[in-house]
Amino acid sequence: MTSTRYDGDTWDLASGVGATATAAAAARAIATRADGALIDDPFAEPLVRAVGIDFLTRLATGEVPAEDLVEQVWIDVAKVRTKFYDEFFLDATNAGITQVVILASGLDSRAYRLSWPAGTVVYEVDQPRVIEFKTRTLTELGAAPTADRRVAAVDLREDWPAVLRAAGFVPAQPTAWSAEGLLGYLPPEAQDRLLDTVTELSAPGSRVATESKPNPEPGEEDKTKQRLHRISEHWRAHGFDPDMARLRYFGERNEAAPYLTERGWALNGVSIRNLFAANNLPPLTDDDMRMGDMLYVSGALNKTAN
Ligand code: SAM
Repeated sequence: MTSTRYDGDTWDLASGVGATATAAAAARAIATRADGALIDDPFAEPLVRAVGIDFLTRLATGEVPAEDLVEQVWIDVAKVRTKFYDEFFLDATNAGITQVVILASGLDSRAYRLSWPAGTVVYEVDQPRVIEFKTRTLTELGAAPTADRRVAAVDLREDWPAVLRAAGFVPAQPTAWSAEGLLGYLPPEAQDRLLDTVTELSAPGSRVATESKPNPEPGEEDKTKQRLHRISEHWRAHGFDPDMARLRYFGERNEAAPYLTERGWALNGVSIRNLFAANNLPPLTDDDMRMGDMLYVSGALNKTAN
């Protein structure tokens, strides 16, 4: 099972890594409709529909019951993850941070659905075809941003800070950053570079939120790949072939939380397992991918000067 990834590869929302953003939005659409919903993302369903991957559209619209096609845990992770980042951004901006950067924004509609304090500027960074599609589709849907939304259409393995600055980003101002569902799609050295760059571009008082996955135990990655492969095969039978095991970069990498801590960030982390418990979701069973150990981390930069 070899990776299909290479330096400089590109995609839209229906192909390669881009389709993972559409799948994430489909999970949010289902989670939004769930009883006692923890999240509300009204744009998820129309965005997925607009991308046009038939399997994901049927899931997102509820035309086929999610329980027939996906594991409940996939939906439950979307619930706690979306809630975690929503709360992170609202806390940061209500505490006075006016500059927000959503790295790998995909079909994230926070710039259109959160109640941002007046004066908040939200930058979205993703590959050009992803950014262009979402901007155009939400405009066609009549949606208006709830903040001053600006875009940086650029690959995060390239010189994205130059594009971000050109869009108006001011490094001297505190920033609230997120990297949600991104790190595993970057090669290990690109992850380090990204976290270094975020730190360099952060004025004192900046905040960050991301995921930190513990390094795998021996044999664990093979199980993960097999599981992803099984899920892909199941979905392929319904006409969608994401080939998930080949999209991610496996192997040793620096864990994000300690890496950021060494660079001056004071972080708190909460595991998916604990978030499930805190939100009264059923506990993870059969957790051979050790998903429950994944940490959502957030915190502030302690440095006093750039
Ligand atoms: N953060 C969004 C969410 O949670 O719904 C999207 C997550 S999706 C799993 C991964 C996203 O990372 C996609 O939107 C993809 O385009 C973006 N991405 C991955 N590698 C990237 C890169 N090298 N440059 C720009 N974007 C990248």
